[in-house]
Amino acid sequence: MDIRTLCIHAGDDPANSTGSVSVPIYQTATFAHPALGESTGYDYSRVQNPTRAHLEKAVAALEHGIDCMAFSSGMAAISLLMELFRPGDEILSSDDLYGGSIRLFRSVSEKNGLHFQFFNTSCTKDLEKHFTPTTKALYLETPTNPMMHASDIRQAADVAHRYGAILIVDNTFMTPYFQNPLDLGADIVVHSGTKYLGGHNDTLAGFLVTASSELSEKLRYLYKTIGSCLAPFDSWLTLRGIKTLAIRMEAQQQTAAVLADWLSRQSRVTAVIYPGLPDYPDKEIHFSQARGAGAMLSFTVDTPETAASLLRSLSVIRFAESLGGTETLITYPATQTHSDLSEEERNSRGITDCLLRLSVGLESADDLIADLSQAIQ
Ligand SMILES: *Cc1c(COP(=O)(O)O)cnc(C)c1O
Repeated sequence: MDIRTLCIHAGDDPANSTGSVSVPIYQTATFAHPALGESTGYDYSRVQNPTRAHLEKAVAALEHGIDCMAFSSGMAAISLLMELFRPGDEILSSDDLYGGSIRLFRSVSEKNGLHFQFFNTSCTKDLEKHFTPTTKALYLETPTNPMMHASDIRQAADVAHRYGAILIVDNTFMTPYFQNPLDLGADIVVHSGTKYLGGHNDTLAGFLVTASSELSEKLRYLYKTIGSCLAPFDSWLTLRGIKTLAIRMEAQQQTAAVLADWLSRQSRVTAVIYPGLPDYPDKEIHFSQARGAGAMLSFTVDTPETAASLLRSLSVIRFAESLGGTETLITYPATQTHSDLSEEERNSRGITDCLLRLSVGLESADDLIADLSQAIQ
């Protein structure tokens, strides 16, 4: 089935006896049993809830996985994922990642005995030399946040599997509309459902999608034990958000391309990083695995003062963390998403005081350009 149809119908509840077109919100903590040894299939909402189950079915279908678990946030999903590993295990990771993931790995997972090696995973010839006998996983975002480096998912999966490790891909930026890492060999897909899947900047959510029943069993056991599950109402909001994922991604991508082109012609803008621009360095890798350029772009301006005055002067575009929603948001990675890195680490990755990140929403391109234009004077 076409993904546009799956977005609308993959979470359907055809067995619902009322004919309800929208999946009902099962606002209940527990479920009564008909008799000893019998269950309706639902026992307790930490383990499973019907509203959440429909959302999980939809996201599993969109990502071509066999199972999906919905969490109270993206970070809750990634934290639970780390429980797959034991003290002494090593995880290889891109060095350009969502700041919260780096913070989790360094300040929580390392304390629990996991080891991390951070490096540039888009440099394909270097990948193999980082693997050791204790490497259990390779963790990637592609394109990365905020520098938009692309990593080769097929090659990463091949190398990881050769060393007996799994490949985990955070697919938040591309969404299943543009990229399906499990089809390219990844074992687990991570999402912050707070971003494009929910899509309206109104709820937090997170997902893990698996490619094998073995991983699914281990993760389901941890899921019911740890309890970081998504609430019924938030499951419903996310399910509703997904219905418009396809048209939102198309429209937001189209506007992002217009803005990327406009920004690259402004004298105060020194660089624009967007997969849809002709000079995007990782074009070949990115378009070998993704069906679009997405709606995230980063750009640098001439001075930190220009960045500060831009952030102060914008009015349609809001200065806020997060991304992927209907509202266009601008972020200053140095003090927001990546404030936990040292200044030296930020500078070495290009996250300077002149870098801004734009999540392009659904407003008209003309209004967004007018707003940027008055603010960048
Ligand atoms: C936001 C984000 C996360 C964390 O998700 P939350 O829902 O905010 O907890 C993880 N990865 C990426 C790429 C993100 O953008």
